[in-house]
Amino acid sequence: MVFGKTTARKYIAITRQAADGIITYSRTKHPNEAILVLQGRSKKDHLLIDRLVIPPFSMSGPYYSGFPIHDLPFDLSYIGTAHSHPGGSNKPSLEDLNHFYGLVSLIISHPYEDDTLGAFDRNGDAIELKILESE
Ligand SMILES: [Zn+2]
Repeated sequence: MVFGKTTARKYIAITRQAADGIITYSRTKHPNEAILVLQGRSKKDHLLIDRLVIPPFSMSGPYYSGFPIHDLPFDLSYIGTAHSHPGGSNKPSLEDLNHFYGLVSLIISHPYEDDTLGAFDRNGDAIELKILESE
């Protein structure tokens, strides 16, 4: 997997459609965790997330979600993951940081609204997240 340096990106942008996809999928999976792979591309000063992929062989429970990363086809457009926290906050857990994939981790907590969606880097630090209302 080849990724750029996270530090070069000032913020994360996500299309309205992709954000709604995460929200809807998380609600569908509730009370279990939902996990999705984020597709997008690097822009000059930010990462743009514009598509979602349901990972093959994903598994989840109330406190756990994951997928075997080696089963993902090699694709440079995979820039991170999104998953839900059915209870509690949207802050990454130690487990989340130990299984960090790609450049960014989006976490959404119940009740799965725009303002419970957060973006984090592999250190667990919050990154500014902008939802693009129009493309
Ligand atoms: Zn988590």
